[in-house]
Amino acid sequence: MLKNTYKSYPNEKGYFGQFGGRYVSETLMPLILEVEKEYEKIKNDKNFINELDHYLKTYVGRPSPLFLAKRITNDLGGPKIYFKRDELNHTGAHKINNCMGQILLAKKMGKTRIIAETGAGQHGVATATVCALFGLPCIVYMGEKDIERQSPNVFRMKLLGAEIRSVSTGSKSLKDAMNEALRDWVTNVQDTFYIIGTAAGPHPYPAMVRDFQSIIGKEVREQLENVEGRAPDLLMACIGGGSNALGLFHEFLDDSNIEMIAVEAAGHGINTDKHAASLTGGKPGVLHGNKTYLLQSNTGQIQEAHSISAGLDYPGIGPEHSFLFEEKRVKYMSATDKEALEAFQYCCKLEGIIPALEPAHALAVLKKIAKNYSKDKIIVMNMCGRGDKDIFTIANELKIKI
Ligand SMILES: *Cc1c(COP(=O)(O)O)cnc(C)c1O
Repeated sequence: MLKNTYKSYPNEKGYFGQFGGRYVSETLMPLILEVEKEYEKIKNDKNFINELDHYLKTYVGRPSPLFLAKRITNDLGGPKIYFKRDELNHTGAHKINNCMGQILLAKKMGKTRIIAETGAGQHGVATATVCALFGLPCIVYMGEKDIERQSPNVFRMKLLGAEIRSVSTGSKSLKDAMNEALRDWVTNVQDTFYIIGTAAGPHPYPAMVRDFQSIIGKEVREQLENVEGRAPDLLMACIGGGSNALGLFHEFLDDSNIEMIAVEAAGHGINTDKHAASLTGGKPGVLHGNKTYLLQSNTGQIQEAHSISAGLDYPGIGPEHSFLFEEKRVKYMSATDKEALEAFQYCCKLEGIIPALEPAHALAVLKKIAKNYSKDKIIVMNMCGRGDKDIFTIANELKIKI
């Protein structure tokens, strides 16, 4: 395969190499095909692009700044380190970029009811937010266990007018919530749109979510050109399902001289059974309507993921990452809970930015590898979320009473 064609994936059937596709029941197929048809129609439509752009500017707060992290740069003593500050978006993370795109598509399709699934609650909050904005009812499926663990986000969703449906089947967490959402969709074909929160699910979702997030990398290209007069040398991001990483990387995939590192959550360690590193520690299988790398047992049972950061706690990964992994276009590394916690504190003290625990994983690896790059190099890391949501976890880990 020619190196300069990465941006053109997936193919018309939704495959990134052997990954992706549409592994759904016959009853779901017509819905998926309808979403694909409508998305293909609007994605280059001027009115749609202008409307999305309008809301991204006036509601989400885009473009997010590109910030030179001077004290971290000095401390590490090597390359220039920039943060793409998507944590400054409305609702505190990158997820709203995608939710805004999908709800505008749902409206164009005449849908009047929105469903979503959420694990940590971040995607649920972003979906409930855009539903309130456009006055559409919002139903969020969430595992019983996650409802207990993530009570602040459950409360936020309720304030925003969403209905939370507790899922008590299976492991009572994200993967079961995804199954329930798919089931709801099949039974409410006429009026319902399913907003998926990461670059996973059946085709066209992985490509569509990536496209909506790719505003991140497009802005970086322009912003860095303005301040440095050139493109970056290395891009870094954390990975749960992979949407913020693809959002940053996609614009640059065909610039073969630009290096990319994505960071998975190694939890207690890759060699334990408590981590969320689907690529480093998993193998290919089918989940949530697509073929991709998954955490699974020897008998093919999906295993629960673990991470200190609830947003990285997903047993799969978007199919495009599985492809980029096998192609070796992107390097996949990992950081443990402990390393992320240290990087979290480091960022607070050196830059006055309280990061979410998710990007703290990327920062942990950045700290380790910066010494391999000379002073004339430029690294851009996606600061994809803010840490307000994580302060109780952190306090607990550090054994501090608040
Ligand atoms: C949800 C979330 C993630 C993980 O999702 P991706 O699709 O991998 O980006 C990472 N960071 C934050 C702040 C999140 O809210």
